[in-house]
Amino acid sequence: MTQSTFAEIGGVLRAHQRIAVLGHVRPDGDALGSQLALALSLQQLGKDVTVWNEDGLLEKYDFLPGGERLTKPPGSPQDFDVAIALDTATQSRLGTAGEAVRSARTWINVDHHPSNPGYGDLVYIDPVSPATGQILFELIQSEKFPMDAAIAENLFVAISTDTGSFQYPKTTARTFEIGAELLRWGVDVGRISQLLYENYPRRRTELLRELLGTMRFEANGKIACFGLSLKVAADLKVKPEDNEGLIDHLRAIHGVIVAVFFEELADGKVRVSMRSKSEDVDVSAICQKFGGGGHKLAAGTRVRGTLAEVEQKILKAICDVIDCNS
Ligand code: 5GP
Ligand code: MN
Repeated sequence: MTQSTFAEIGGVLRAHQRIAVLGHVRPDGDALGSQLALALSLQQLGKDVTVWNEDGLLEKYDFLPGGERLTKPPGSPQDFDVAIALDTATQSRLGTAGEAVRSARTWINVDHHPSNPGYGDLVYIDPVSPATGQILFELIQSEKFPMDAAIAENLFVAISTDTGSFQYPKTTARTFEIGAELLRWGVDVGRISQLLYENYPRRRTELLRELLGTMRFEANGKIACFGLSLKVAADLKVKPEDNEGLIDHLRAIHGVIVAVFFEELADGKVRVSMRSKSEDVDVSAICQKFGGGGHKLAAGTRVRGTLAEVEQKILKAICDVIDCNS
C-alpha cells in the first residue's frame, strides 16, 4: 500500500464534483464529526456532497452543525465521482453506506486505525493520530479548504470524543494546539462538552445500573467485564448508542488492565468491545483473532454464539495474553 499525500487527496477532491462522504457503522463522535466537517468544507468549495451513514445521525449527536445533511443511504445505489471513507478500519464496516455507492471512479480512505489494510485508490492512514478529525484538520489546513465555526465544531467533537476529552495516550501537544485553534474558530468548549458529556437520557444510567449488576472480575482483578442481553436491552428500551462509553467505568477501576463489554445482538452474534490500560496488552491483536480490529488500547469484534459462549472464549483469549496467575 502506498500512502497518498494531502496534496494528492486535495487535488482529487478539487477535480471532481459528486462526492460521497462515508463513515463506519455504529458511528461514534469521530466518525460523525469527521463526516460532517469534511462535507461542510467540500460544500463550501461548491461540490455536490452526499453524507451517508448506515445508522444515520444518532439522536445524541443531533446538535452537530449540518447534521441534517447526514442521512441513512437509500436502498438503491447512486453514482459518484469520488467516495471517501472516514474513520473506517475495513471497507465492510461502511455497511449499507458502502453498498449504496455504485460507480465511484476513485475511493479515498482516510483513517487512524492501525489495523486498516489500506483499501481504496488514495490512502492516508496515520496510526499515531488520536482521531480521524485531527487528520482532517491537517488536510483542511494544508489544502486551504474552507473552515468556519460549524466545521470547527464538528472537528472538535471528533477529536474530543476519540481522545476521551484529550486524555488518552495518543493525545499529543499537536492535539491541544488543534483544540486551541478550533476554539479560535469559534468553538464554545463549555457548551459543546455539556452537550457531549452531560446530556444523556436517563435510560443510559439505568442501563449502567443493569450492567454493573452483571459485572465480574477475572485474573485477580486484571480483567473486568459486564454484559447486556437482548432482553434487558428491550426492557430498558435502550438504543445501540446508549452504551458508548459505559465500558470506561470498568477501565477506571484500579488494577484493571483489560475491560470488556459483551452485547448480545439480534443476528446471533455478540458485539465485543475491549479496552486496555497497558501498552503491553494489545486488544486490537486479540480482537483480530476473532475477525475484528481497532486500536492497541481500544478495539472490538463480533463473534457468533451466545453471550455465555462468547464471554468464555474471549476471556480465555485475554488470559492467554496477560499473565492471569500473578
Ligand atoms: P468500540 O468498542 O467503541 O465499539 O470500538 C473500539 C474501536 O474498535 C473502534 O476504533 C472501532 O473502530 C474498532 N472496532 C469495533 N468493532 C470492530 C469490528 O467489529 N471490527 C473492526 N475491524 N474494528 C472494530
Ligand atoms: Mn476514530
